[in-house]
Amino acid sequence: MFGHSTVATDGAARAGVLRTAHGAVETPVFMPVGTAGTVKAMTADQVRATGAGLVLGNTYHLMLRPGADRVERLGGLHRFMDWPGPILTDSGGFQVMSLAGLRTMDESGVTFRSHLDGSAHRLTPESATGIQHQLDATITMVLDECTPFPATEAQAEASMALSMRWAARSRAAWVARPGYAQFGIVQGGVYPALRAASVAALTGIGFEGYAVGGLAVGEGQAMMLEVLEATVPLLPANRPRYLMGVGTPGDLVAAVGRGIDMFDCVMPTRAGRTARAFTSQGVLNLRNARHAEDGRALDPGCTCTACTRHGRAYLHHLFRANEMLGPMLLTQHNLTYYAALMRGLRLAILGGGFAAHAEAVRAGWAAGDPV
Ligand SMILES: [Zn+2]
Repeated sequence: MFGHSTVATDGAARAGVLRTAHGAVETPVFMPVGTAGTVKAMTADQVRATGAGLVLGNTYHLMLRPGADRVERLGGLHRFMDWPGPILTDSGGFQVMSLAGLRTMDESGVTFRSHLDGSAHRLTPESATGIQHQLDATITMVLDECTPFPATEAQAEASMALSMRWAARSRAAWVARPGYAQFGIVQGGVYPALRAASVAALTGIGFEGYAVGGLAVGEGQAMMLEVLEATVPLLPANRPRYLMGVGTPGDLVAAVGRGIDMFDCVMPTRAGRTARAFTSQGVLNLRNARHAEDGRALDPGCTCTACTRHGRAYLHHLFRANEMLGPMLLTQHNLTYYAALMRGLRLAILGGGFAAHAEAVRAGWAAGDPV
């Protein structure tokens, strides 16, 4: 059966276990983004070695190439990408809505042109749910409209109301299977009353888990945390809570402190491909000349290959020489760092020392790199 049990709480922060048809995962958890059936620059074994237990796949990319029918015929996404563990897929909506000029929306769904070949496609709450079923996603997301920021309260309300109608249709199209889940997505912009109305609508429909969407779209961390403080306490305590598309290590620590269990973001993988490393001493850019003859480990506390087998000078050289090993090693490091950060938060929650641990982690970032 699918479920989330909270093992310990410390303030609003929760440590738990997510049980799925494809295995159990400890929470809080960060999900690496495997856009097109691959976490870029990483083999599946390497992703597992970072400590990741759950990965995300993008429905938009997979439905266009290689196509949901083909993935289904080939045995589903787990088999296709050699990830037997749990996979969460987004609905495809976020990418489609981002295709300015290439899409038209109506009450029933959204019609769009592929960025690959210009071919016309349509995504509805029903088809988005069906495609994720074909992909064999462990966790399916409802189709929603990510309300842009800024939006007036009236605009945010209309957008949220549409998303709630789509959530009901997504739920009606959902085929329940043991160990599988469908999550509803809370919208409502930065308006607490709309967020509350959205939570009421979704819990009225009833989902296995709840995501908070429409954040990290330009509102800033302070406002994002205000929205979380107004929203998360309204969500059912016995269901997992997922903050979509977030974020920096600082965002993760703050959001765990407000009761979020699950995260996804392209940040650690994208940054890794552009020479930026997240470390216990803050963000380092390995292209910077000051690393050219620095033989020290990137992050002395880290267990990844980049940190245990190489020095900063070598990583710097790889990026300067445009060697593909540079992005590979730094992606591995960043995902290892994110997983270790989550594990550290979990242990702190279990030990009742979340606030002190979070403060120590932030102090390390603020102190920076002792050159
Ligand atoms: Zn490392």
